[in-house]
Amino acid sequence: MIKKGNFIIYFVLVFLLITSCSNSSFLTSDVSSNSPVIEDVVAVENAVSDAVSWPLVAYGQSSLSVKAVQYFLKQKGYSISIDGDFGSGTLTAVKNFQKANGLTADGKVGSATWSKLIITVKRGNSGYAVRAVQDLLKNKFGYSLSTDGDFGSGTQNAVKSFQTKKKLSSDGIVGATTWLYIIGSSGTTSGSTTDFWGSRISSWTFPVKGGYLDPKTGARYFGAPRNGGTRAHAGIDIVPNSGPGTLVYAMTNGTVTGYYHFYAGTYALEVENDDGTVARYTEITSTKQINARIKKGEAIGKIIRNNSGGSYMLHLEVYMGDSTGALTNSANTSYKYVSWKKYNRRSDLVDPMGVTRLPLP
Ligand SMILES: [Zn+2]
Repeated sequence: MIKKGNFIIYFVLVFLLITSCSNSSFLTSDVSSNSPVIEDVVAVENAVSDAVSWPLVAYGQSSLSVKAVQYFLKQKGYSISIDGDFGSGTLTAVKNFQKANGLTADGKVGSATWSKLIITVKRGNSGYAVRAVQDLLKNKFGYSLSTDGDFGSGTQNAVKSFQTKKKLSSDGIVGATTWLYIIGSSGTTSGSTTDFWGSRISSWTFPVKGGYLDPKTGARYFGAPRNGGTRAHAGIDIVPNSGPGTLVYAMTNGTVTGYYHFYAGTYALEVENDDGTVARYTEITSTKQINARIKKGEAIGKIIRNNSGGSYMLHLEVYMGDSTGALTNSANTSYKYVSWKKYNRRSDLVDPMGVTRLPLP
């Protein structure tokens, strides 16, 4: 019986033996005779770390890979929401898909399930699999694309460019190998909504000190029904245990771009953050002026009671900052980073629930 660690040592020993005995048949380059073995071991390690493989996607994860699974299932007719969160609905759909395709119905998406899930798409195609191409190229690799589900010339050019970068044949067709590289290789941008908060844990701070009511309950959560379900809550409500008067702190450095009446006698402070994102701190009062510079962790306002029922909270909205126009926009019909609901907001609205992962100020 060979344990894993012993196996690796065994492998390296055999490797050293081969390279030292082969009199350069293994080494085609002009390597100095005193160190070829070490250099080749390093080269092997690099090759391994650059390898592309299908990610194992499973219940509880949130990622663009989860979103890709959801796009494919949706394209194949499964009733599923495309939100990047691997919840119970996705789990059921994956298991049903596995059963229908003769796979082990364990609900985990590994290489066998991926190979049955993927759908080859090319110019002229439309649908959810095309959306998957556009979403991942845009949010993982930084291509400027709209996720409209139509595979036109812009998408084709982006695919060709991606294939060239990955040294694949650049035919503009997204087949098994290109899918493997889109889904399996590590991304070059951190702009996806699924890791928006994860990538800010070490650099941003939570906007309120002390305890607060669980935002996942009591209709305080993003997307909660408003006005009898005719629209959806576009922010997260942070209701502090310390009551009205609780201070609000800047999550990160930025510049004030607006201060105006928001709701029932309360105000909104709009901040363009230095990383290009936008935060709207609302149902507060503030003495900050437009163009004022604000620093991470600085007190920028305080929570007050509204005059319609007297409740109090920080209603916080966050935007990626790559759309233009007013943040409130009841005419908007599409969102880049969240699934469609009638939020009545600008198209670059971000799901703010992950703010609770930030450390307290
Ligand atoms: Zn709210």
